Amino acid sequence: MDLKLSFHPEFCQDTLCHSDTALRCGLDNTCPPELLENLSRLSALLGDIQRSLNIRSGALKINSGFRAHALNEKVGGVPNSQHCMGLAADLVCPEFGSPCDLALAIAQLPCEFDQLILEFGKWVHVSAAPLGKIPRRECLSIFNKDEGYLEGIVKR
Ligand SMILES: [Zn+2]
Repeated sequence: MDLKLSFHPEFCQDTLCHSDTALRCGLDNTCPPELLENLSRLSALLGDIQRSLNIRSGALKINSGFRAHALNEKVGGVPNSQHCMGLAADLVCPEFGSPCDLALAIAQLPCEFDQLILEFGKWVHVSAAPLGKIPRRECLSIFNKDEGYLEGIVKR
């Protein structure tokens, strides 16, 4: 199989698989070959967001991208997280504004995200749709686990 995968230079495989927690705990967080296509689509989505919002190179920070299952458990991620499929990234961009500002701005873009979630007011979770699925452009917020997910990007 000759699969040509392209990554946005800034959101390359290393960046999307980097995890301080994995390094600290000695967990292998390499993206398996069968998920690299997902990861490259996530990379393109992030590149799109960066360009559309005129965010300067290097300013969009990825707190968490791909997570192998062991890492996902370690960080308390939901099972079946889109992070484990190489489809999701958690972002912050202090230069642009608060996580809420960033989420509201991404929600206005015509780009093809699957889910956009303002998580605990601290970061923005964005995902690409699985291959062959139509991006849902679903916008949610969560502030605490008891309250659960709220519709839309909610400012608090
Ligand atoms: Zn996330």
